[in-house]
Amino acid sequence: MENARNFYINGQWVAPLAGTDFPVIDPSTEETYAHISLGGQADTDAAVAAAKAAFPKWRLSTKAERLDLLESILDVYLKRSAEMGATISREMGAPIDMSKVQQSGTGDFHIKAFIEALKDFEFEHGYKDSQSDWIIHEPIGVSALITPWNWPMNQITLKVIPAIATGGTCVLKPSEQSPLSGILWSEIMHEAGTPAGIYNMVNGDGPGVGSQLSVHKDVDMVSFTGSTRAGRLITKAAAEDVKRVSLELGGKGANIIFADAPENAVQAGVARCMNNTGQSCNAPTRMLVERSRYAEAVEQAAAAANAITVAPANEEGKHIGPVVNELQFNKIQDLIQVGIDEGAKLVAGGTGRPEGLNRGYYVRPTIFADCNNDMRVMREEIFGPVLCMMPFDTMEEAIEITNDTDYGLTNYVQSSDPEKLRHMARSVRTGMVDMNGKGRSAGTPFGGMKQSGNGREGGAWGLHEFLEVKAVGGWPME
Ligand code: NAD
Repeated sequence: MENARNFYINGQWVAPLAGTDFPVIDPSTEETYAHISLGGQADTDAAVAAAKAAFPKWRLSTKAERLDLLESILDVYLKRSAEMGATISREMGAPIDMSKVQQSGTGDFHIKAFIEALKDFEFEHGYKDSQSDWIIHEPIGVSALITPWNWPMNQITLKVIPAIATGGTCVLKPSEQSPLSGILWSEIMHEAGTPAGIYNMVNGDGPGVGSQLSVHKDVDMVSFTGSTRAGRLITKAAAEDVKRVSLELGGKGANIIFADAPENAVQAGVARCMNNTGQSCNAPTRMLVERSRYAEAVEQAAAAANAITVAPANEEGKHIGPVVNELQFNKIQDLIQVGIDEGAKLVAGGTGRPEGLNRGYYVRPTIFADCNNDMRVMREEIFGPVLCMMPFDTMEEAIEITNDTDYGLTNYVQSSDPEKLRHMARSVRTGMVDMNGKGRSAGTPFGGMKQSGNGREGGAWGLHEFLEVKAVGGWPME
């Protein structure tokens, strides 16, 4: 990739001022196949300065101008979407067919939803029937956007698009573990005719560019998606000059399967947990099953996990790929061992690589049964293809177990009883609840409660994240 070592600042590809080389490793083979640069303070400063300089003009752009830009970004994105799918597949190990549809598809899904939300968005309006109050929603200024590697285009579009759609300017720091999709994204932004300076990109790691952006005096807001660990550090760093911090963090979602759940609820729950090799913040990783159906559910889950093929990302067809890197591989192996040592019953998978795969960060799809909610495997985000199951007797007990976690991102409920579904949706403490396999519509808010964060991304809620609210009295109405 021509621009792999460069950064995108003020509408141009530029060589790093203070960069060091960093390898991009293919998790399917453990081979290094590219190098990027990790930026230093001078690169961070240059990108923030470009965003700051572009803000006074861009904040005055009209909604129509911004809609034109978003439409143009969408056109170029769709044109290069297969390339995006292939780039993500290689850098983080998502199977090629899945990556071209799901990984790449998240990008145009969100861009389209933001276009619709922006069309309807009122940046200025009155207050009740007052003749003198006026409310103005104005851009927050320069935002720093820090994203993870697991769904790269999902998080990049959820941040870059609203940051600029609201009249703000930004600096993106993609994950150093999936940096090539971020570079391709910047090429798309350039080709779409994005005005110089409103969007900038610097590669770097957390202690470097990530931390520099979090404390930078000219950054007004940090929008971060990643681990709860890094979210805490960024919040502390940004507190010094009271920046707004929007956080989308980890999760440990429960999938509550009642006895009257649809026939295939267990198999669908396993598939949902294992998708993207279990590397989704909203994966349903704790499966709670009503006791009368529990024994059968354990058998069904084990069979479903055993039927999953694990293979290199470039292999076509339905399978799961490796996990992203050696660090994650080792962490997942350790946690599978912890589950065994804690007395959870291993009914599928286990430690070590799947048979026939000796190189690459491949993990066996693993199911633990008979867990209790005190076990580390039930409390910590494993971020791999590992599902933990336990039985429950009553709806109130299911709610208690579900809510007994530090996280609060997404829960899942399976039942054919409408009353039960509504009660569960109201009782569980997560930002999102998905019931009976129905996803949420484009433009609905994505975000969590408790230690899963405080942000709400997507659609109109996602636009609000990047806006200040100004209340004006004495507004001349005539
Ligand atoms: P991570 O926190 O290690 O890294 C995420 C990003 O933050 C990277 O760009 C990294 O370079 C940067 N970073 C790391 N430390 C930093 C610091 N001290 N200051 C500033 N930036 C820093 O997370 P990851 O391993 O890349 O991603 C996996 C995590 O992301 C999981 O916990 C997952 O649940 C979470 N996630 C959450 C959501 C959500 O919307 N809630 C979505 C996807 C992923």
